[in-house]
Amino acid sequence: KRPIVGFIGLGNMGSGMSRNLQESGFRLVVTDLRREAAESLLAGGAEWADTAAEVARRSDVVITMLPTPRIVSAALHGENGILAGLSAGKTWIDMSTSVPEVADGVREEAEARGIRVVDAPVSGMSVGAASGMLQIFVGADPEVFAELLPVFEAMGDPERIINVGGHGAGYAVKLMINQLWFSHLVATAEVLAIGTAAGVDLDVLRRSLIASPANSNFLERDVLSILEHGDYDEGFAIALACKDLGLSSDLARSVGVPSELSALVEQVFRRARRSYGDRAGEMTPFKLYEDLLGT
Ligand code: NAD
Repeated sequence: KRPIVGFIGLGNMGSGMSRNLQESGFRLVVTDLRREAAESLLAGGAEWADTAAEVARRSDVVITMLPTPRIVSAALHGENGILAGLSAGKTWIDMSTSVPEVADGVREEAEARGIRVVDAPVSGMSVGAASGMLQIFVGADPEVFAELLPVFEAMGDPERIINVGGHGAGYAVKLMINQLWFSHLVATAEVLAIGTAAGVDLDVLRRSLIASPANSNFLERDVLSILEHGDYDEGFAIALACKDLGLSSDLARSVGVPSELSALVEQVFRRARRSYGDRAGEMTPFKLYEDLLGT
């Protein structure tokens, strides 16, 4: 029998993900701080719940897609929290970009009560959420992963739904993806700025880099969408990108590995956030360099 899915957090990502679950035939119980975010789901037959606890009570699998670990934690605890509504046989999947500590003091207790706790963060931007082609990195035991696969397949690209380890591994993989991605962004913006200031035509420089061993997805795809469409990906707020870089630095610190580069990248991102505002797109650090050149 198909599980009833509870979905908490219907923002840039959660709106598309929940719609795809609904279109795949899952019954949904949803909530968000903004009730209007649920309108089209409710019109399609989803049920509204006033609290996270109520979502958990009325569903088998509860998904959170919330901004920060602190907000996820707040949604878990208290009389209106997810934990209050979960019971044996149910599963909580956190698909937010977060850290294992979010489940500290929760997971052992929940598992003792027969509740499964899974982390399954995603990549693929709001476009991927809307099209059901997300990459999903799942931290769970293999048998739990296998059982949940139909839920993930409703939201993600079947070729890129990966069981990356036990609980917490999904969070770690996702943070490393974003750290590397954001490093590509800053490194690319910097070399394009230097090269063009040195007199090379921007398009020639970009095409030369693409033809070289220094090529990257960022050069091929994202630089083009910035240059041709002025698209800095407003579907992912720079404030959340800064959150991810902060979490990544925390992770590096907690495992005792130096992370000089990520600290630098984080500073550039924080500069962009300060310059363009919290809701500016994740790729606006690129704009800092464009502004520098007056292009
Ligand atoms: P968002 O800010 O667009 O959406 C968050 C939603 O959560 C909003 O609708 C908000 O009203 C709701 N919310 C906040 N607090 C709540 C609470 N206590 N109870 C119920 N609802 C609450 O964020 P997003 O871009 O959808 O990102 C969600 C998560 O996914 C973040 O962890 C982010 O880092 C990650 N992520 C985002 C992207 C992207 O491209 N946007 C890509 C991959 C991962």
